[in-house]
Amino acid sequence: MPQHMQGSAYEEGRWSLDDLFPATSGPEIEQAFADVQAAADAIEARQSALVPEIEETAFVEILEWIVKLTYVTDKLDGFAVLSFFADTEDQEALALRGRVDTLQADARNRALRFELWWKALDEENARRLLKAAGDNAYYLRTLRRFAPYTLSEVEERIVNVKNVNGAAGLAKLYTMITSNLTFDFESDGESIELTRSELMDYARDESPERREAAFRALLAVYETRSAELSQIYKCIVNDWHAEKVALRGFSSPIAFRDLDNDIPEVVVETLLETCRDNTALYQRYFRLKARWLGLPKLRQFDLLAPLEDTVTEIPFSDGVRLVLDTFRAFSPKLAALAERVLADGHVDSEIRPGKRGGGLSWDALPGLTPWILINYGGRVHDVTTLAHELGHAVHAMMAAEHSALTFSPPLPLAETASSFAQILLLEAMLEGADSELRRTLLAKYIEDSYAQILRQAFRVLFEQRAHRMIVDGATSDEICAAYLETLREPFGDSVEVDEIFRHGWVGISHFYTQPFYDYAYAFGLLLVLALYRRYRAEGDAFVPSYLEILSYGGSKAPLEILDQAGFDIRQRAFWQGGFDVLSGMVGKLEGLVE
Ligand SMILES: [Zn+2]
Repeated sequence: MPQHMQGSAYEEGRWSLDDLFPATSGPEIEQAFADVQAAADAIEARQSALVPEIEETAFVEILEWIVKLTYVTDKLDGFAVLSFFADTEDQEALALRGRVDTLQADARNRALRFELWWKALDEENARRLLKAAGDNAYYLRTLRRFAPYTLSEVEERIVNVKNVNGAAGLAKLYTMITSNLTFDFESDGESIELTRSELMDYARDESPERREAAFRALLAVYETRSAELSQIYKCIVNDWHAEKVALRGFSSPIAFRDLDNDIPEVVVETLLETCRDNTALYQRYFRLKARWLGLPKLRQFDLLAPLEDTVTEIPFSDGVRLVLDTFRAFSPKLAALAERVLADGHVDSEIRPGKRGGGLSWDALPGLTPWILINYGGRVHDVTTLAHELGHAVHAMMAAEHSALTFSPPLPLAETASSFAQILLLEAMLEGADSELRRTLLAKYIEDSYAQILRQAFRVLFEQRAHRMIVDGATSDEICAAYLETLREPFGDSVEVDEIFRHGWVGISHFYTQPFYDYAYAFGLLLVLALYRRYRAEGDAFVPSYLEILSYGGSKAPLEILDQAGFDIRQRAFWQGGFDVLSGMVGKLEGLVE
């Protein structure tokens, strides 16, 4: 039953996907498949026109076919995926997903010729055509971003072929080894064998002994596998350096990731430095947490220790109202958009067997109301998830004027509206809460922000160091020592970090599969906190520039979008503003305890 608004009451329910397709099979689906083929045929038929001196109108025509191809494939893909998420045992949805996967691969191959041609085109003609491309220019620029670092066609082919069984093969091997690891854990005098995620539940246990035992069980296994896992890492790092720095000419190992994110290196440096300068605020928090737990000093083993949850159940309609009121107090326009998501029956909120867990927002089509999936259980966390996913949805709706190629925000800005909605909700919930609830809400927020900002920033600081060391021939022991040092640095003397954590880095998969990726988390949340601080300082005058950021979608580079909206992320002071918000929260927590 789709979601209904009865008066002002919202009921939990299942979404309707009718705005995409009426069923997983039938004439509408077949028509969409035919449309994709027609678009691919049209692109292929125009391939002979792909010469450097191509007329602007002919170029734009091909581009429009690519937009159409992308739109319809995304629509089919979204429908197949959402049908499957709504019921993971739906065999028809599964079959449709298989068909769509094949279609996408085929469509991509058939449009590939255009991409390759565009990437290889000379600067002068590219500039001429970019002017004609209108809103799709940033998409085209993105394709050419790596041009200065591209090798000859023959070299690129060799790199591709060798990668499959080289660096990519090693990363796959790493994933295989680590996902098959099991851990022996003593529980109530009995030894049990656990997966990593089962084991890590004990790291969140009430008992300090069990928390410590969980980490020791984890790290003991990493220690025994350390020789092979660090050897794999060294090969990946050396390969990264040989290809990206030595062959392609990137100025540093991280520079590749910065270009991929389209963020200037100097901005990333400033971000990481500001993180390094703000460790004291989390140290204050960890000292507080030790006191709450009745410990003389927090140990790394206690970092995930639970604090009591004092919140009573929040009915769905209250949760929705709270989120909508929060949006409305900030901007009635955003609230109206969020309401439309609910009114259109695009929210799957109930818990039922076979439905995918967690929360997500699907907003891959400009002009269509996004769909969101949550599993509402009445906890604060569930209301937060609703705010987060509705944040994603309104971001997409604000950018609806762009094309299928330019409306999704770039990775560094992808969590802007979702995280902003969350901090607005926190503020709303703190109002009128008793001191126990305030403590729960603030502590949870600070802990999550630590995991996203400081922990991730220091991971990247470690990676930078490890890459330098490995290229210079460091041993595994030396890498472990460097890791322990980087792990200890942000804690100062507020947290005791046992020697055994030196082996922890071999378990962090992004080091192997996505080097330097993790600063994007710190970037995303700190950006939102910095924006929020400006909102607190400027009040309603801030709102239009915030809405402007959202309305760009993915039609410009992150730096350009923020510049145009009046935020200079090259400045250290901008990022510091984000930490000032967190520092204020820790201050409030300190006040509650005194
Ligand atoms: Zn999100």
